[in-house]
Amino acid sequence: PRSRELTRKDLLKKHLTRAMAASARHAREFHIMPQTFVLPHEYTAFVAATNIWIMKPVGLSRGRGIEVIDDVSAVRYSDSVVVQRYVGRPLLLGGYKFDLRLYVLVTSFNPLEAFLYREGFARVSTRAYDVTAEGLRDRFVHLTNSSIQATRDSPLLDGELHETGGTKASLTYLWARLRRARVPVDRLWSDITALVVKALVACEPGVPAQPNAFELFGFDVLVDAALRPWLLEVNASPQMDRDHALDRRVKEALIRVCSARRVVACSRRERPS
Ligand code: ADP
Repeated sequence: PRSRELTRKDLLKKHLTRAMAASARHAREFHIMPQTFVLPHEYTAFVAATNIWIMKPVGLSRGRGIEVIDDVSAVRYSDSVVVQRYVGRPLLLGGYKFDLRLYVLVTSFNPLEAFLYREGFARVSTRAYDVTAEGLRDRFVHLTNSSIQATRDSPLLDGELHETGGTKASLTYLWARLRRARVPVDRLWSDITALVVKALVACEPGVPAQPNAFELFGFDVLVDAALRPWLLEVNASPQMDRDHALDRRVKEALIRVCSARRVVACSRRERPS
């Protein structure tokens, strides 16, 4: 219940801000999401900070209603939106932007019990990265959502992979390719794991204790060129469509392992302790 505390872009920001306020150390440790303002009430602070921004409706997904802007006057006030600092120097894969879709099964919030699936997806853009003003409006450069990129072929992945995944590749493929480029993948994975735990811990106070409930979350994470992972957002009940051979392999094994974990977690809670 109340998983929206994690999945609504404005509520996630509220919880992370509260966690950051506890101390200087917390301010550092919980700075896992790019700076975000909820409009209209944080308008004054937002206009004071010049940058490239990404504007997102608070409750939508799959890239709907998102725009990259470099001009405050382009902000829309008709819907509830957050504006977030645009991570302009992402880690690129062969010149293309990508982000990570990670799967996290939460079987209990209080006490926290969560499982991060080791496989997942790198979602890759289909047009080479370009952060000039002309390129900013190009969704095929900046938004890595599969639902946006799916209409195009991937110049990076086509011909490279044996297992088709549309504009997605598996994490296994991503890590192998990054290792070849001498990226310290083990350290990156451990930083990503810490980011997932911090997001869950920050939102925990907003979620009621509820035995025998579970939720599978899809975490969207972007890694910048300095190898720092940033949390973009969290989705509840992520899509389980199996459009490609890769989806079948990754998601079917995920569903099996989630069912097994959920049964173990629920039966453990039913035992008298
Ligand atoms: P949605 O719920 O519509 O999928 P996201 O927050 O996941 O919204 O954003 C969609 C896409 O936009 C991401 O997959 C990523 O490629 C890009 N994106 C989102 N936020 C940022 C950001 N702060 N910096 C750079 N790229 C971003």
